[in-house]
This record gives sequence, C-alpha cells and structure tokens, in this order.
Amino acid sequence: MKIISVEPIVLQYKLDNQHKFACSQEWCNDRTIMILKLKTDEGITGWGEATGPAFVHKTIIDLEYAPKLIGMDPFESELIWENLYNCLQDHGQKGVAIEALSAIDIALWDIKSKALNMPLYRLLGGAFREKIKPYATGLYHRESNDIKGELVREALTYVEQGFLGIKLKVGFERIEHDIKKVEAIRKAIGDNINLMIDANHAYNAKDAIKLGKKVEEFNITWFEEPVPPEDINGYIEVKNNINIPIAGGEAEFTRYGFHELINKRAIDIIQPDNCMMGGPSEYKKITTLASINNIQCTPHIWGSSIALAVGMQMAFSQPDFPKSLNPQEVWLELDRTPNIFREELSLIKPEMKNGYIYLPKEPGLGILINDKIIKQYRIA
Ligand code: MG
Repeated sequence: MKIISVEPIVLQYKLDNQHKFACSQEWCNDRTIMILKLKTDEGITGWGEATGPAFVHKTIIDLEYAPKLIGMDPFESELIWENLYNCLQDHGQKGVAIEALSAIDIALWDIKSKALNMPLYRLLGGAFREKIKPYATGLYHRESNDIKGELVREALTYVEQGFLGIKLKVGFERIEHDIKKVEAIRKAIGDNINLMIDANHAYNAKDAIKLGKKVEEFNITWFEEPVPPEDINGYIEVKNNINIPIAGGEAEFTRYGFHELINKRAIDIIQPDNCMMGGPSEYKKITTLASINNIQCTPHIWGSSIALAVGMQMAFSQPDFPKSLNPQEVWLELDRTPNIFREELSLIKPEMKNGYIYLPKEPGLGILINDKIIKQYRIA
C-alpha cells in the first residue's frame, strides 16, 4: 500500500459574542483547525488533526512533509515518523513541527487499522477497559463572569447530563476570585462529583501553592498546569507543597520532552495530547515511560471529532498503572465548549450512558467524516 495524496485542510468558523470564552491565556473568538486527509492506492483514506496554528501546520505539511510521504507505505509508520522528525530536528523539536507531524501519525494509524478492519485500540494491543469515565471540560471565563449564576448553572447542567467529573478554569483573575469559584462550584455539585481545576499555566510556583493550599479542603481531583510548561522546578515545588495531585503536559512534546517531566517526577498525572506531542506512536512510548516511573497518564483532548476519537482510542488501549483490583481510572477529557467540528465533523459520535463512554467497535479511529461540514467551513 502506498500514500498517493496528502491534503491538509483548514476549517474555520467565528464564535458569536454569546459563545466566546476565555481561559487564563486568551479569548477563543473562532474555531480554526487543520485536519489532514491521506489517501492510499488501495482506496483507504486516513484522517488526522493538529492542534495549534492551522495555517502554519498546513504550510509545514505542504512544503516539508508531503513530498517525503508520497509513495511511502503507511505500515512503515515508525520509519516515516523518524524520517519526518529528523528532517526538522534542528528547527522543531517542540511546537508546530511536531503538531503537524502528529496529524500525519494519527492518519497513518487510522489507515493501518482500517486496512486490518479493526479499531485502532486493537492494533495497539487491545483494550484494557470496556468503558471509560469522561469529565466535562467547561466552566471557562465569559463576559459576564457571574460565578454564582452562570458558572454554577453550567456546572449543574453537567451534573444533570450525568458527568461524574467536571473541570473548572482558574487563573483568570486574582487568587481570591479563584477560591470563591472553586467553593461555589463544589457546593453546587455536591461531594460525589470529581472536580478538577486548570490554571493553563497562569501562576508562578508561590501563587500556585497559595491557591492549592486554600482549595485543598474542596477535594480537588487534580490541579492542572499550575505553572508554565518550561518551569519544571516550579512544578516540583508545587507538587511537593500541596495535597492535590498535579497534572500537566498538554504543552509538552515527544518522548524526549516527557522523559524529563517524568524522570524528575515533576508531575503526578501527565496529559499528552495526540494532536500535539507526536501522535499515537509517541503516546505509546510516553505511557511506557510513565509506567516505568509509576506516574498516571490521561490523554489531553481538545479539537474536533478526530482529536476526540484518537484520544479515546489511546485511553482505551493504555494499561493501568499502578495495577490493582481497583486501579485509578483513566479519565477521558470531553470538552463542552461550543464547537461544531467536535459535534458535527463525524457522523459517528460517542455517547455517554450512566456517566461512561463504552468501547467503540468501528475500524480505524471509529469516525465517519461528514463531507458537508468540510465543504461548508473550508477556508484553505
Ligand atoms: Mg488544560
């Protein structure tokens, strides 16, 4: 089997004022993503996605990666990964070059598992679980910033929908404001729902510790990205000074980047993003590194139906560590912010029943791309 065409596609739509939201770093005013379509001479099509600046990803693929991909056999995916990584190694060990490479790697695994007529998790060695617990990623900052009203109402919607875990964004304003938010949400959702907080690296270690200590009493499942991704010593300081597990890694890349985080035991729960850090080929290696160091791993997921599908496949196929009769659950991130590409790009959608999503059975990533959405939103 040979790759005969490489087509990066940029999709975009603007969010109206009512749907705009912000994390600690920026406002989200539009959805602009790059998805990738790889075609083979055997009629099998693979899909991938990169998270980050879509036009830059498209340019890297068009100019650097595509010429090296044409004519290659998708089953030689390791060989392809190393070849593409090495061609930009001196210029892109992290960031956009690896994000673009992630899209290719995802599409190659999609093709390989479709060719064998099996779901990706089977090709990766099988599913370690029949069902998985999604948590709702929401509770962002909005114009009104009405904690007691809008934010609490949103949290209660997730409870009504059956979510067993909810993630709240912090780091937008002062620490005192964050503490009030955490307290209000915990009170509203009760004690039986897991509550995570995510600062999107808005703090230095001192402030993150201050916030962490103040919210320990609200039973926080994890504190995500308390400090910037470059500040590994800051992570260690925070981890050693508060009684909340520390999560992070969505802005880390490849086995080389994660090796440092894991080896220094800077984080309790690593969150590699398959559309950013190198794709399923790297995810497998990173989970192995994590298991050697007895560190938990849960996929970070942000983006379209493709991102969600690949994150799910990886979450089902990763072993429990540490193993026990009652192991720590692997959480599945389910973004709830408005996104047509997550809701409509695939005609097959994951369904939550009793707070769980069950093992998909379709081959490949388990999606069916809706061409109408591509036609409607394509800008490049
Ligand atoms: Mg995050």
